[in-house]
Parts: sequence; structure tokens; C-alpha cells
Amino acid sequence: MVFRHSLLVVHVLVMSFLSAAGAEAQLSRFQFAQAHMGTEFRIVLYASDANAASQASDAAFSRIAELDTIMSDYDPGSELMRLCQQAGGAPVKVSADLFRVLTHAQELSRRSEGAFDVTVGPVVRLWREARAVRQMPDPKRLAEAVKLVGYENLRLDAQTQTAQLLKPGILLDLGGIAKGDAADQAIAVLKSHGIFRALVGGAGDIAASGPPPAKEGWVIGIAPLDPRKKPERFLLIHDGAVSTSGDSEQHLDVAGVRYSHIINPKTGMGLTGRSSVTVVAPNGITADSLATAVSVLGPERGLKLVKSYSGTGVLFVVETEQRVRSYEARFPENRKQ
Ligand code: ADP
Ligand code: MG
Repeated sequence: MVFRHSLLVVHVLVMSFLSAAGAEAQLSRFQFAQAHMGTEFRIVLYASDANAASQASDAAFSRIAELDTIMSDYDPGSELMRLCQQAGGAPVKVSADLFRVLTHAQELSRRSEGAFDVTVGPVVRLWREARAVRQMPDPKRLAEAVKLVGYENLRLDAQTQTAQLLKPGILLDLGGIAKGDAADQAIAVLKSHGIFRALVGGAGDIAASGPPPAKEGWVIGIAPLDPRKKPERFLLIHDGAVSTSGDSEQHLDVAGVRYSHIINPKTGMGLTGRSSVTVVAPNGITADSLATAVSVLGPERGLKLVKSYSGTGVLFVVETEQRVRSYEARFPENRKQ
């Protein structure tokens, strides 16, 4: 009796294995793009038919849109901005999504000794204005803004799922972490729709589930310092993420100095010195936020920080007047296809 039962199990297993292999053979590639979070998000996925592909990608894009309405610092009605309106007041109950991202941010702030700090909002605003008028921010206003920066002034309570901003005027900015998280969440939605081979990317932040059929991974080309150039390195990724931070897209040039949109929270200054940091990590929220943190920390401390996280690797490219230098730790070797 027992014997017959186990035979049946084996038979069922073999059948389901065969049908899975059969279904895999029929998967086709689909690609979609939509504008969210101030950038273009792309989804590449393998599905059995166009209907399944578009239903799944619609749901994934809706999830990204939902996260944007929560995390946006441009929209005064976003949950994040409504929380900031309570700065200096009592703890505020926040959504699970906002709590997840803030918790991750705060842990990284501690581990990076404040190099990553989502309370940089007041300073980021001044630099945004400065880029628009192509002039350095006013030093007095910058000094005032820096006084409001400090991750210790954001208190989270997991028990009550609340956030409290300890000083009036504090502004949170999730620009260094929200896109990576959105890519993770989109991958999760695709899985809930039965899509297990997909890539989601918003600008420099990419997350992937399983590789394309019969492939080892998704090929990601990396062109440090200038994304318009031909990629110099190629990575193969699956079930993980890769993010690049740098000054190539958004910066302010004044008197021959380029100031990045990435800020040193201690000084309030945009990073100078051209660099590009690429981080691979098990998920997008880690890759995105670490790439920003490492940019601030510099190669030595940055590589150390990345190595303290499991399943991560980093490539840090710095351009000086004399030459380009690369530093790397546990970064996957070059893979061409
Ligand atoms: P990108 O937006 O190009 O992907 P990043 O992921 O590095 O680049 O994020 C940069 C953004 O993060 C800035 O535009 C700003 O909104 C925010 N930011 C700047 N400096 C910091 C910092 N030190 N810690 C946390 N967030 C930061
Ligand atoms: Mg980032």
C-alpha cells in the first residue's frame, strides 16, 4: 500500500516536471514601459501569452504608481509629505509601505554613520532650486537647512507602526531608496501573477526574478561615469538587483566644479569629484540605498560598508583630472553574451 502510494507520488512529480518544462518552452518575451517617480520604468518579462503579460505588467505598474503616491516628495498630498506636515508633533501612524522603507533607511543610516540620511530633504530642496537657476545655494539658507538634518530626529516604533519627526521643519526625501523598493515590489506583483522570469528597472535601479528561459541571467551593461557610452562591464543577474548612483544625470556646474544631486548630510554640500557607484544586492531597496550611501562614504569606507551586507558587491569608479580609478569588492566578473 505504502509502496503504491509512493509510486503515485513519483509519477505525479514526473508529470508536473514535464508539464512545467513544456510550459517553459512556450514562454515569449514581452516588454513594457511607463513613466513613474520622475523616470521611465521598464518591465521585461516572459509569459505564455500577451494577455497574461499585459495583465501582470499593468498590475506591477499600478503598484509602482501606488508607491509613488505614498513616497513622493513633489506631491504635497503624498503620505510622506503629510507626515512631514506633522514635524515637531506627536507620532503618526504610517502605512506598511512607508514603514518598510523608513525602517530600511534608518538601519542604513546607522550602519553608514549618517552618510545615508533621508532627513536631507531641506538641503535637497535648496540644491534643486540651485540647479534650476544654475547658481550655488545661498550659504546662509544652506546652513539653516543643514541644522534640520539628522536621522536621529526620525523615530520609528515598530509596535505601533508610527513615525515621529522630532523637530518642526524636518523634510524627508526618499529619492535615494524609493525606486529600488518599487522595483522589488513590482517583481513581487509579477510573481503573484505567475510571472517568475522578469526584470524591472527605473533608471539606474534594476531588480530581477528568474533568468530568461535557458539563460543563466539577465545581461546588464554598466557604463560608469557616462551612461550614454558603450557599457564597459557586463553582469549576469537573477533573483537580485543592481543599482548605479552617480552625478552623470543630475548635477550643477559652477565655476568648473560639478556638484552632484547626492548630498553629504554632514556638510549639506553636493558631492564633487566625479564618481559612479554600482552595487549588486539580493534586492533593489538594498542596492539603491547602498549605492547612494557608498557614493557619500568614498571608496575605502564605502567598500567596507558593502562587505558588511551579505550577498552584495560593489564597483566604485572615480575620475580625477589625471585618470580613472576603479575600486571593487565582491563585484561579479565581466560576463559577455
Ligand atoms: P538616482 O536618483 O540618480 O537613482 P540615487 O539613488 O543616488 O540617484 O539618489 C539620489 C537622491 O537621493 C537625491 O536626488 C536625493 O533625493 C536623495 N539624496 C541625496 N543625498 C542623500 C543622502 N546622503 N542620503 C539619502 N538620500 C539622499
Ligand atoms: Mg540610490
